[in-house]
This record gives sequence, structure tokens and C-alpha cells, in this order.
Amino acid sequence: MMNETHDPVLTSWLDSANEPGGDFPIQNLPFAIFRCAGREEAWRAGVAIGDAIVDLAQVHARGLFSAEADEAAAACSATTLNTFMAMGPRHWHALRLALSRALRHGGDESLRSCLIPQDEAEYALPAHIGDYTDFYASIHHATRVGRLFRPDQPLLPNYKWLPIAYHGRASSILVSGRSIQRPLGQRMPPGSEQPVLSPTARLDYELELGIFIGTGNALGQPISLDKAQAHVFGLCLLNDWSAREIQGWEYQPLGPFLAKNFATSISPWIVTMEALEPYRLPWTRDPADPQPLAYLDSQTNRAQGSLDIQLEAALQTAAMRQQGRGPQRLSSSSFRHSYWSIAQMVTHHTVNGCNLQAGDLLGSGTQSGPELSEAGCLLELTEGGRKPLLLHSGEQRGFLEDGDTVVFKAWCERPGAARIGFGSLSGTVLPARAMPADQSV
Ligand code: MN
Repeated sequence: MMNETHDPVLTSWLDSANEPGGDFPIQNLPFAIFRCAGREEAWRAGVAIGDAIVDLAQVHARGLFSAEADEAAAACSATTLNTFMAMGPRHWHALRLALSRALRHGGDESLRSCLIPQDEAEYALPAHIGDYTDFYASIHHATRVGRLFRPDQPLLPNYKWLPIAYHGRASSILVSGRSIQRPLGQRMPPGSEQPVLSPTARLDYELELGIFIGTGNALGQPISLDKAQAHVFGLCLLNDWSAREIQGWEYQPLGPFLAKNFATSISPWIVTMEALEPYRLPWTRDPADPQPLAYLDSQTNRAQGSLDIQLEAALQTAAMRQQGRGPQRLSSSSFRHSYWSIAQMVTHHTVNGCNLQAGDLLGSGTQSGPELSEAGCLLELTEGGRKPLLLHSGEQRGFLEDGDTVVFKAWCERPGAARIGFGSLSGTVLPARAMPADQSV
């Protein structure tokens, strides 16, 4: 439902929030956990506005809001967003509305004393993530990758009937800016009779959205499709770093394991589902494909289950950094191409009674569009490394090399709505740890 916080004509008394093309206008108001960099002060929640952060612990301490908005700001004084996430849509909306009214022209400029420049901030993970599940919701990704791993049968028979996922590892989720160490792992060299342990030579990124659960469900009580939306707090960017030859050797029969659980990066800012309302689109299923079973189908999901979120992956090599070049865009796509909606992922995850909890993270799966130029990972873009990309710097890339920085961005724009953005997600690849002496290849 759209409301006054989405009005595209709203502007803020903070000028930086009104600059065209900015990620954080007054219609966005995403949440992060931050503190002033280099100080040993407490982590707390903040909301982005222009080039600043509204310190919600200060908002609460100064008693600037009342009723549910103040209860929400109090919860945001904690070191993670879990308590606020668990409060549910009424409190999420109350705080958003109070912030929108205070920050707009003619609003309460006493909030100025609660602003901290984003330049001076550092970020932590936005929530304590109890569990992390990664889906596989782009049929374009699944088909192109499936073709590389299994040319005879790219899509397995279950793909069009249920949102496929594996249970990932929560302990190795990192906030943007943290470096990634190239992992060691087992691989089976082509034509060889026994596997070897070595640093991965086929390190890849996966361009995904992260989906933060707000209110959970009790064990044994599934979330129906039309209630699923209200359980989701918001979205961030997610990079599911992947080691492809480790994955190829280990993934059957139980799915990804060490090829993926060495690191997953997420952006610090969570854009709320309420902020994303103007970018909803009908969710459609090709009439030639199987239509979803009843528990995964509803009028509401068909009417507005999809989201038009532009996604972009870019790469900055060490040489580009030395030459003063910025990151080079490798691909772009939109989340609207996803075969399954967020609500369908949540509902399917709980149909057996599995309980989700506040702060749980779901990955959308690599979001690739129908065209090869819209592919969300190098495995697809380079066709398994066979067709390396030629970069502006004169370098080539089949897979990631040490010193490479991967940068993701996302944003939403359409006529009649304000443009909102997700900020960025970046991570740099560090060399592998030295091989154990008795295991060298
Ligand atoms: Mn993934």
C-alpha cells in the first residue's frame, strides 16, 4: 500500500537528500547498524538520508518521537536490528512515518542534532543472523549454469515446481568492505583419478538480493502466501562468493557446501519493503510452464508479487586501482526476471512447519536476466572461463584474481516515483592462506 511517505514531490531540509540520482532521498529511509569509525562507541541503528545517518539511539534519548515510533526508536538503540525487526509492520511503519514527517521541508529540524556524516561511519552486520538460506530463483541463471554442469539436462524436473534452496552458513556472512580470502578446497582435475587440495582457481561472485525476515513463525505453523509479505523486513545486496571447481566436485548429491560457505558479503543498508512498494509489478508465469501449486499461488502474488529492482555488478582490478580507474561494469539486470517471488520463497520455506526468526537471511539466488549480458556471475558471463572478459585495463578475466574488488549496486526508478538506491556492496579478494606443508600439490 502506498502512503504519504512515497510521495515523489517530498523533499528534505537536508539538501544532500534532494540531489537527483542519489540513493537516499526522503522516500527511501533504509536501516543499518553503524558507529563513528575509529571510536570505541556502541553500535546502534541508523537511517540513511542524503549523505548523513539519523542516529536512532539519539532520537530516542532526546525523546523526539512518541508512542509506537518512540518504541521503535528505543529498539533501534540496540547493537542489532533483531528486536526492531521482530516488532512487525505497525512499528516499522510508525518509525518510517515519523522520520519522513520530521525530515521533510517544514518538518522538525531538531533532528539535525542527531545526524552523523556517512563519511565518518563504519558498519556492522545489520542483524544477528541465526540462519541463512540461499535460493536459486532465477531460471535464466539455473538454465545457463545447469547447461555447463549437465549439458544433457540443464534444468532438473523440480525447478519449475518449487523454489530450490540450500541451507548456507550464517557464521561467515560479512558486511561490505571486509576482504575475502581465496579458499582452499578439493577439486578433481580433468582426467585425474584422485582429487587434490589447492586454492580455488575459479573464484566467482554471485549477484543476489538478501531478504531479511522481520517477524518469524512458530515451529509447525507455516506462513501462507498472502501473509508472507508482512513477515519480510527488507532487502539488501548479497554476494554469494563461490569456488566453482570445488562446487563441481562436491555438489552432488547434497548441494553446495565448502564451495560457498567460506564467505558471503552483504551491503550495510536494508531497504524496507515499505520503501519498495512503488516498484511492485505483477508476477507472471509463462502459460506454457507448470502453474504453481495452490499454496504458491494467489491473486495478490499475481497482481504485485514481483519487484523491479535494477542490479549491477562491477569489477575493479588491482591494476585499475593503480591506474586510477574506477570499477568497470560487467553486467546489469533486474529482479523482475526472478522465476519465484519473495513471498513464494518465504511460504515454501515454511510449508513443512520450519520456523523462520527475526534476522534470518534468505538469498534470492544469482539474479540473471534472459540475455547473456544480464548474467549475474562470471561462470555464466565467461561460459565457464572459456571466453574470458576483456577489460578496459587490457587485462582478461575468466574468474576472479587476487586484488580484484567486486562492487554491486542496486536501485529502483520509474516515472511517478522517487528513485531510491541500495548503496553499494564491495569486497576484495586476498591471496589464499599458505597450503598445509604435507598437502602441497
Ligand atoms: Mn547463490
